[in-house]
Parts: sequence; structure tokens; C-alpha cells
Amino acid sequence: MTSSDIRRAFLDFFKNKGHEIVPSAPIVIKNDPTLMFTNAGMNQFKDYFLGNKQAPYKRVADTQKCLRVSGKHNDLEEVGVDTYHHTMFEMLGNWSFGDYFKAEAIAWSWELLTEVYKIDKDRLYVTVFEGDSAEGLPKDDEAFNEWKKHIAGERILMGNKKDNFWEMGDTGPCGPCTEIHYDGRSDEERKAVDGKTLVNADNPQVIEIWNNVFIQFNRLKDGSLEPLPQKHVDTGMGFERLVRVLQGKQSNYDTDVFTGTINAIENIVNKKYDYSDSKEAVAFRVLSDHIRAISFTIADGQLPSNTGAGYVIRRILRRAVRYYYSYLDYKQPLLFQLLPVIAKQFEHVFPELKKQEDFVTKVIKEEEDAFLKTLEKGIKKFDAYIEDSEYIPDYFSEENSTKKETILKNNKILEGADKKIINGVFAFELNDTYGFPIDLTELMAKEKGWTVDIDGFNQALQQQKHRSRAATAIDTEDWVIVGDEFSQNEFVGYDSLEVKTRIVKYRK
Ligand code: ATP
Ligand code: MG
Ligand code: MG
Ligand code: MG
Repeated sequence: MTSSDIRRAFLDFFKNKGHEIVPSAPIVIKNDPTLMFTNAGMNQFKDYFLGNKQAPYKRVADTQKCLRVSGKHNDLEEVGVDTYHHTMFEMLGNWSFGDYFKAEAIAWSWELLTEVYKIDKDRLYVTVFEGDSAEGLPKDDEAFNEWKKHIAGERILMGNKKDNFWEMGDTGPCGPCTEIHYDGRSDEERKAVDGKTLVNADNPQVIEIWNNVFIQFNRLKDGSLEPLPQKHVDTGMGFERLVRVLQGKQSNYDTDVFTGTINAIENIVNKKYDYSDSKEAVAFRVLSDHIRAISFTIADGQLPSNTGAGYVIRRILRRAVRYYYSYLDYKQPLLFQLLPVIAKQFEHVFPELKKQEDFVTKVIKEEEDAFLKTLEKGIKKFDAYIEDSEYIPDYFSEENSTKKETILKNNKILEGADKKIINGVFAFELNDTYGFPIDLTELMAKEKGWTVDIDGFNQALQQQKHRSRAATAIDTEDWVIVGDEFSQNEFVGYDSLEVKTRIVKYRK
């Protein structure tokens, strides 16, 4: 089955079970102060669970564009290093708003996976909430008994509150969940540990594919639970992981969701992706992942900028640029060249990208151009700092122009030779002069076995904010958008190309 067939089969299955198929909500969330980006299928339905709004349909299903790069769910560091966490991914989901509950949800999950997708039953495990007496939370016997109808008791594992109980916040709707895991180890490996069930992080080939949440309680301010009059089902299945299972691959990146992009990168950089754990292979995976996050977020209306959600996107983009620059030895803008592949691939699922292909391409290329102007110098500074213990970063000589001794005191040397901490002021210099987001400096440091003095960095950042606030009475925005609906306007270009402040204009 191709990935398109797999997605279609999911939606058709739930349509046949009386679900309304609804579109994905945008990745970018504009009206919720608690969340920058959609990170789960349920986000767009939050008000139904909270009882603020009445759901127009009792059963819905969809595929939702999700982004997990900030806040409670931040998978950025896993991406490309492991083979199943992405920044942007599709979450397939089905919901019941006060309609069906555990029996149907569990039976349908099983039916879809084993009868429609024909996954080997012997490779599936499920987890059920074990209860938590200290918190007054009961064991989920109901889910356990439903699962017993489909799967042998020893394949139903008990899970703790962290993994198997879902809550939106300290108060409000909550409930137990049951997760479905797939064991993708080879037959030999499975035989070798005969009978031992592995779930989750024990082995990278054993992955969680689907989570079914049963929202049945309301947590009150005093911490007690009351049963909800209307119970809900909220499920989420990682589409790319499902495709990996069904296409019999060892990595999400080996499925047709990613191979088109990886091939395009191979052609651009004139190197072969070798499936390994090498830095080069990680770079291939990171790029093929990050381009999706960047493109879809821009298409949904969030431009890269120096603040808030826009800065999250700029950080991901610069992280990607540094990966191709350092590990694929490619020194020109690359990401924008991948747009035709992605836009075409998703034309019939998320047409918003294809519709704005030229615009998104231009924005990405301008971003890449701008960062490439300072990246090389920044990397040289960074290497000099790491390799030369006598090296004094510019900002020290400027701000601390006293004695070298004082400078070195602030520097890594006197912090202990084996401590290897990048000074916060230097991290700030990389940020301020060369546009290195702090997490990029942290990543580069980590690769060399160093850490970064984040407190020192934040202090330096604060100091600069005070200085610039004093210098300019008015706060200027990073991007100025002229016109109402930017996505329909024509991109004219940056007024200025400095890394820090840039102005974009759109013409009707
Ligand atoms: P994991 O434990 O693997 O990090 P999770 O428990 O955080 O997953 P959920 O919040 O339960 O994930 O989301 C529902 C489903 O979405 C998961 O079962 C998984 O298949 C998928 N998923 C979660 N995070 C990612 C990600 N970063 N990339 C791809 N798929 C993901
Ligand atoms: Mg997770
Ligand atoms: Mg999990
Ligand atoms: Mg989960």
C-alpha cells in the first residue's frame, strides 16, 4: 500500500462507522495563549471536551498536521537521530463526542489494524492504565476487559500515570488511555529474548503507534474527580509510523512519505543516503523532516521572525541550514529546492502548500540566503573558541576590555579544564552577530562534548534588551506586512537583508 492508500483507508474506515471526515486545522494557532502550534489532533476540538461548545457531529475523523517543537511536547532533539519522531507529522484520529466509548473504540482500532491493514497480531501489544491510588485514580478494568476480547492477556501491559493517563491541565477533563505498540524486531531478535515483551524505549524497533484516550472524569479544583455526564473518545495515530509498519520498513524515512525528498536531496548534494547513524545520514533525515515543518507552517500563515512562533520556525530553518552546510558540504540555499517535491506530494491532502508554493519558496530561500551570509564566520568563531584555549571572543574584548585575566576568568579556562562550558557571553555573541539560535549553539556544543552556560546567555540577552530599549523608544516588529491577507499577496522581497532586522512587504 502507498502512503496515500493508507491514509485513505483510515478515513474510509471511520467514515463507514458513521464519522464525519473533517479537514486538518492549521498548524499555527492564533487564538490560544496556551499553545503556539497544533500538537495533537484533539486541539481543534478542545472546546467540545471543555463543554464550552456543542460538537456539530458526534463522530469525526481526520488527519491533522501536528508540530512538536516547543512546550510540553518537544521532540526536536530526537528528530533524525531516532527514526520515528518528527517535528511535523500527521496524526490520524477518530473522536466520539458523548457518543461511543471504550468497547467500540477498542474494537475498531483492532479491526482496522488487523483486518484492514492486516498487521500481524503477534506483533501488537497494548497498554492499559494500572490506576494510581495516591491520586485516587482507578485502574482501567473496562479497557482491560475490552482488550481481552481481542488479544491474549499477556499482551496487555499495565502502564502508569505518566504514560496512560491524560489530562489537559491541573483541572478539567481527563481520563485513562490505552496505547497500541508494534514490535518491529526481526524474528531472530524476538526469538533470542523468547517471550519477553518489549514496549517503548527498550528497543528502537518497538514503537508506539496509536493512543486511545477515554475522557471520562472532570478534575475539580480541590483535586477530586467527578464522572463526566458525557464521555468522549480522542485517538491519535502517527501516520508516518503506521506507514513504516505497513511498508515493512525499519525507519519512517524509508517509506514513500520521505523517500521522494531524500532522493531530491541526494541529487542536489550529489551524495547517497546510506541509512546509517553517521552525521551525514542524520543530516539527510533532519532535512527531509525539517522542510515539512517549515513549509507547512509558513503556508499556514506563520512567517519566520525574531519573536514567538516565528522564531521557532526560524530556529528550525537555521538548524537545517547548518546540517547541510556542515555535514553535506553544501554551501548554497538547499531547502527551497525541495518545495516542488513536497508541494506535489501533498497536493491532494493539504492543498494549501501547492497553492502558495511560489510564496513559500521565496520566503525560505531569502531566509537561507540571509543565514548563509553569517554562518561560516560564526562556525569559524565557534571552532576557534573550542580549539584554542587562549582565544578571546570579540564580546569580551569589547565589554571586558580590562585585563586578559578577567576575560579568561569569565571564559571557560578557570571554570575547570574538564568542564567544557561555553561561556554565555560568547553564546550571545554567536546569537547577536551571527544569528545562531541558542539551541543551535547547544547542539554544536553537544557534538563536541561541551555544554553552554544558558544562564549567562540569558543574562547577556537581557542586558542587550535593556540597552536597545533605552536606545529606541518604540519596539519595532521584525516583519511588516502590508495588506490584509498576506497569502494572497505577491511577495516583493526584503527591504534589508541583515540577519536581525528585516522588513518584508507584500503588494496586493
Ligand atoms: P512517543 O511516546 O513515541 O513520544 P507520544 O506518547 O508522545 O509518543 P501521543 O501524544 O500519544 O504520542 O500521540 C499520539 C501518536 O502520535 C503516537 O502514538 C505516535 O504514533 C504519534 N507521534 C507522537 N509524537 C510523534 C512525533 N514526534 N513524530 C511522529 N509521530 C508521533
Ligand atoms: Mg512523545
Ligand atoms: Mg508515549
Ligand atoms: Mg502516547
